[in-house]
Amino acid sequence: MQLYCFPYKGCKPNSRLGIQMLSVQPDTKPKGCAGCNRKIKDRYLLKALDKYWHEDCLKCACCDCRLGEVGSTLYTKANLILCRRDYLRLFGVTGNCAACSKLIPAFEMVMRAKENVYHLDCFACQLCNQRFCVGDKFFLKNNMILCQTDYEEGLMKEGYAPQVR
Ligand SMILES: [Zn+2]
Ligand SMILES: [Zn+2]
Ligand SMILES: [Zn+2]
Ligand SMILES: [Zn+2]
Repeated sequence: MQLYCFPYKGCKPNSRLGIQMLSVQPDTKPKGCAGCNRKIKDRYLLKALDKYWHEDCLKCACCDCRLGEVGSTLYTKANLILCRRDYLRLFGVTGNCAACSKLIPAFEMVMRAKENVYHLDCFACQLCNQRFCVGDKFFLKNNMILCQTDYEEGLMKEGYAPQVR
């Protein structure tokens, strides 16, 4: 699967759109499909985005699922047609990183500590910058991530006030 580079600026607002399934009257002129540009000669066609589609041609740009079958909604952004799952994966957000406070897109891997989420790159001891591996102990104090050494040092010092760099 290919991850596209999405232009975030100038994108239209998120849109969730309905899909209608229509039966084709035999005596009407066949409509052209917006996906493959061929005439639709099937008994049914889909109407979405003010265009007509073969049932097979209205597909998610990411996973190729047929959108006429997935709860009859589609999502568009940056000229892509997406199913709900891929839309949320690509454009949803996990939340704000508790360390750098920037938004984390839903498709990014994150670290979680209690209700906080962090970019993988931001998840480090906020005093000595030590990174953590799976199985390492870390501590959360005053909402700061600390390694064991800094945490224990902090406990020993009286009036300990951790300084955020
Ligand atoms: Zn088609
Ligand atoms: Zn999809
Ligand atoms: Zn971050
Ligand atoms: Zn540390």
